[in-house]
Amino acid sequence: MPHVLTAADLPVPEILRRAEEWRTRLQANPIPPIQPRAALIALLFYEPSTRTRAAFEQACVLLGYHPLVITAEVSSVAKGESLQDTVRTLCAQGVRAIVMRHPQAGAPQTAAQVATAPILNAGDGAHEHPTQAMLDLYTLWRHYEMPDPRTRWLAGRKVAIVGDIRHSRVARSNLTLLAQAGAEVWLCAPPTLLPDAPFPHATLTHDADAAVQDADVVMALRLQTERMQHGLLPSLNAYRRDYQINAERLQRAKPECVVMHPGPIQRGTEISDEVADSAQSLILEQVRNGVCVRVATLEYALGE
Ligand code: ASP
Repeated sequence: MPHVLTAADLPVPEILRRAEEWRTRLQANPIPPIQPRAALIALLFYEPSTRTRAAFEQACVLLGYHPLVITAEVSSVAKGESLQDTVRTLCAQGVRAIVMRHPQAGAPQTAAQVATAPILNAGDGAHEHPTQAMLDLYTLWRHYEMPDPRTRWLAGRKVAIVGDIRHSRVARSNLTLLAQAGAEVWLCAPPTLLPDAPFPHATLTHDADAAVQDADVVMALRLQTERMQHGLLPSLNAYRRDYQINAERLQRAKPECVVMHPGPIQRGTEISDEVADSAQSLILEQVRNGVCVRVATLEYALGE
């Protein structure tokens, strides 16, 4: 029973292949019929979510399962139940998998210790967000015309991830998959939003112009104000000036550079409207691919 707790747990070539098959299937008109099953997949969402939750809900439906969405406010967590007891309860009721988003780093690992069904991490605190990294990689893999995924197919490509690196589970998971594929990864944030520990396989900088210089891919990240102590940023205006991904800053990148963002976007803060909506932007393509990657990952974890 494979859990997907971190990006390193993902069998990347297999998920890319399955995601591509799903993409083709979902393009058919009408979509081939779904055989419904009398079984549930639990979606424990203890933090807000739009894209990830909607994609996992769709993934359940596409595989014929009923998605059982539970949020912290309406669950027994509000009555003091532990995460382990919630997971034991859902497993005793026969859910086939548990997808979970949790504000605490490591919560999916705790859940996996007591679960009798696969656990899929849909984001744990500032730790990991494996399926986001997987959909980002899938988006790049398609953009670069589907090279052999068993090779270091991103070798020679520079990927600059710019924003709140310290609190970003997206950056952490992406670094694992991008480095595996051979990319040169730069992580850029204001000094107070860089991680304390060194990141192996990445260049850390607080100079956004240096990060973007000659980049093939620029990924902007949201300021995770919900995870920040006060005073980590001197001012939003200074942040915009020094770190915003806008047309002027992007002139330093390669002309064919593409721009990504995991969403939700804070338009006018980490990215300008003009860039977010430009032909260089893969943002909506990421969202679209998010469904294919979630259904592929769920299918893999269910052993189907
Ligand atoms: N949606 C992503 C996450 O859940 C990125 C973000 O929230 O900024 O980590």
